[in-house]
Amino acid sequence: FSKFKEGLTKTRDALMGKVESLISFGRKIDEEFYEELEEALIMADVGVNTVMGIMDDLRSAAKKQKLTEAEELKPVLKQILVELMGEDKAELSTNRDGLTVILFVGVNGVGKTTTIGKLANQFKAEGKKVILAAGDTFRAGAIEQLEVWGQRAGVDVIKQGAGSDPAAVIFDGIQAAKARKADVLLCDTAGRLQNKANLMDELNKIYRVIRREMPEAPHETLLVLDATTGQNALSQAKLFGEATGVTGLVLTKLDGTAKGGIVIAIRKELEVPVKMVGLGEKIDDLQPFDPKDFVDALFA
Ligand code: GDP
Repeated sequence: FSKFKEGLTKTRDALMGKVESLISFGRKIDEEFYEELEEALIMADVGVNTVMGIMDDLRSAAKKQKLTEAEELKPVLKQILVELMGEDKAELSTNRDGLTVILFVGVNGVGKTTTIGKLANQFKAEGKKVILAAGDTFRAGAIEQLEVWGQRAGVDVIKQGAGSDPAAVIFDGIQAAKARKADVLLCDTAGRLQNKANLMDELNKIYRVIRREMPEAPHETLLVLDATTGQNALSQAKLFGEATGVTGLVLTKLDGTAKGGIVIAIRKELEVPVKMVGLGEKIDDLQPFDPKDFVDALFA
C-alpha cells in the first residue's frame, strides 16, 4: 500500500490538495463552493460526466444530512468514491492447468513492452515458466526492447525480423510455449492506429491464429493505457473496446501524473476493469489494482 500511495502522490496532490484547501478555513457549503469543487475534480481528469454524477450525489447527501460546513463533506466524498469504485479487486484470469495466453494491445508509447517485462518478472518469481512473443514487428526497436526485458526477467523471447507478420510471430510463440511446456505466454502487439479498420484487421488475424491453436485463448486481452494522457486514455479505451475483446486495463505511468483522476472516470464509464497499474519504470513497479486502496491513498 505504501508504494501505491507514493505512486499516487501527484494525483493526490492535484485532486485532494485542491479539495483540502477548499474545505479548510471553516468554509461554508454554498453554490460557489460546489462550483469550485466541481472545477477541482474536472481539472484532475475525473471526467465531466463522472464529476456531474459525484456532485449530484454530494449535493443530495449534504441536503439529506443537513450539512453546512464544507469540512463535513470530506467523509461523504470519500464514501461516494468508495461506492463508485467498488471494492472488488480484479484478478488476472489464468488457465489453472495449462498454458495461459495474454495479449497486450494499446497505442505506441503507452508502456506495453515495459508492462510485459514487469509481468514476466512477477510470473517468474511465482515459479512459472514464461515466454514472450515479440508481436510488435512495426515499431523500430520494439523487438530489441522486448529482448532486453526478457533478459532482465530471465525469460525466453520468440521473435522474427522487423516488419514480419505479427500473427506469425504469435503462432510461433504458441508453438514454442507448448513445446517448452510454458505456463504463460505474453504477446506484444503493434500499436499503430492509422484507422480502426486496420487495427481490427490486424488484431482479428492474431485472434484467429491464437484460437486455431488454442480455442480458449487468449485468457486475457489487456489494453494498456497511459494515465498521463488523461481523457485521451478514455477515448482509446472506447476505440479498442470496439475493435477487440478487451478483458482488462493496465494503467501505466500513474507515478508521473496528476491526472490519476482518470481512474475514477474509467471505472464509471467503462465496463472493463482496471487490473494493474504501472507506478514507475523499474521491473517491480507494477501492482495489481485495488479500488479500495486507490480511494484510501487519495484520502490518506
Ligand atoms: P510501448 O510502445 O507501448 O511498448 O511502450 P514502452 O513499454 O516502450 O514504454 C514507453 C515509455 O514509458 C518508456 O520510456 C517506459 O520506461 C515508460 N513507462 C512505462 N510504464 C511506466 C510507468 O508505469 N511509469 C513510468 N514513469 N514510466 C513508464
